[in-house]
Amino acid sequence: MSDGAITDGMRVDIAVVGGGLAGLSAAVVAAQAGAAVLVLERGADERYACNSRSAGGAFHVAYTDAAGDPGDLLAAIGRITKGEVDAALAAAVAENAGRTVRWLRDQGVAFEPGSAPMYNWMTAPHRPMLAGMDWPDCGPDVMMQALAARLADAGGILARGCAAQALVMTDGACRGLTVRTGSGETATIASKSVIIADGGFQGNADMVGRYISPRPDLLVQRSAGTAMGDGIRMAETAGAALVSMERFYGHFLSRDVMTGADLSPYPQIDQIATASIVIDGSGRRFADEGIGGIYMSNLVARFDDPASAFTIFDRRIWEEGPGVKSVYPANPTVEKASGTVYRADSAAAMARQIGVDPDTLSRTVEDYNAAVGNDAREQLDIARTDSLFPATPLDTQALMAIPLAVGITNTMGGIAIDGNMRVKRADGSIIAGLYAAGGTTGGLEGGGTIGYVGGLIKAAVTGLLAGENAR
Ligand SMILES: Cc1cc2nc3c(=O)[nH]c(=O)nc-3n(C[C@H](O)[C@H](O)[C@H](O)COP(=O)(O)OP(=O)(O)OC[C@H]3O[C@@H](n4cnc5c(N)ncnc54)[C@H](O)[C@@H]3O)c2cc1C
Repeated sequence: MSDGAITDGMRVDIAVVGGGLAGLSAAVVAAQAGAAVLVLERGADERYACNSRSAGGAFHVAYTDAAGDPGDLLAAIGRITKGEVDAALAAAVAENAGRTVRWLRDQGVAFEPGSAPMYNWMTAPHRPMLAGMDWPDCGPDVMMQALAARLADAGGILARGCAAQALVMTDGACRGLTVRTGSGETATIASKSVIIADGGFQGNADMVGRYISPRPDLLVQRSAGTAMGDGIRMAETAGAALVSMERFYGHFLSRDVMTGADLSPYPQIDQIATASIVIDGSGRRFADEGIGGIYMSNLVARFDDPASAFTIFDRRIWEEGPGVKSVYPANPTVEKASGTVYRADSAAAMARQIGVDPDTLSRTVEDYNAAVGNDAREQLDIARTDSLFPATPLDTQALMAIPLAVGITNTMGGIAIDGNMRVKRADGSIIAGLYAAGGTTGGLEGGGTIGYVGGLIKAAVTGLLAGENAR
């Protein structure tokens, strides 16, 4: 439905900001329970862009089966976040993930398992993991269409082309919001509660610059670009606390994407990077590669020049290891899309090609090879743990390198909420009438090692709970 549904002074039970997975899950469950629900969605197209629609479609909890035993899910969240997680949010996801994916299935969302337990709840038809935002008619797009249809069936309104602007606060409680309609008019909507679900702030370069990276212009948007931080700004103005704003979910991409190569959102270079070494512009390692690409992407984003890192690997990794053995392999996709892959028969020769100091890179590779080859990792200044692909010495006569860019997908930090998705102030008190869900919220993910719990399951569980609790 277009913005014709909006009238100034309109009254509803629940107003939802954003028609992504979080917003539609909240809206559908609330409308089915009899509430008068209005979803405000800035996108005007019938199939408006949002991260939920362009996602890969894997509903996992910390890379495990979303419908697994709640105790196991809680343990997996604890492992991936190294315990740096809001306990109430971890429990909410662990206890509700299974019923949430089954609820989605009951709403007509089709799932078809993939190749590993983390893909047991993969939307169908599967989205090809290729370069380009090739989401039309893939599982996540079909999912969004199904939820929009259920909302209409239940009498809810999805008003497209309408951007929420500010919350209406009365005596410290949220009682509605103001909206800019597609025709440029401002309307005030009265509601018993508002659910903010506008997806985070990855599309807002000023906010990314303030919280995440000194050079947002040197990060790559690996997202739909629709999350502008409006909800965070509105909630903060109303007194909400913000948490972990500097953390984001992202991946390494081939740097050639910055000059137009068709190499985003896939293939990610993370799998190669975590099996080998990653260096900064000085030719030195700067992170424990085994922790993973999301962690390293966050560190590189904070560099003065986030487009200066390389992964150095070898022919075996490229031809027999993670170069070819991942769900979306970089080999041969990167070179087919004219992405740069360097080859050299010594570390010094590689250094000359990629423009770093030959002595420094030679020492970096020698130290790494000695430590992982001789089981003497404690000798390394920077720790090296194993990932899915264990660290092995690099063959210095068959070295390879890929210049890296950081692709920002979804911010992980945001509005502080409790286990019932109620928005919290810094002193822990609740802002009456105000709820938040999905990518705009913080506290679940993004501890010290930037553990990623899963954007889709986070959106669906927090959306469902917000819709059930908002009255
Ligand atoms: C390429 C890609 C692949 C991914 N793959 C996976 C995956 O396989 N598994 C996984 O778990 N996660 C994945 N994710 C992450 C996941 O898609 C997101 O974490 C999740 O969809 C966020 O949902 P959301 O509803 O919070 O936000 P969104 O889906 O972004 O929805 C927010 C909506 O709010 C609207 N909006 C913004 N501002 C306003 C405003 N002021 N007023 C009204 N509306 C507004 C936007 O237009 C948008 O439609 C992927 C993301 C991308 C980009």
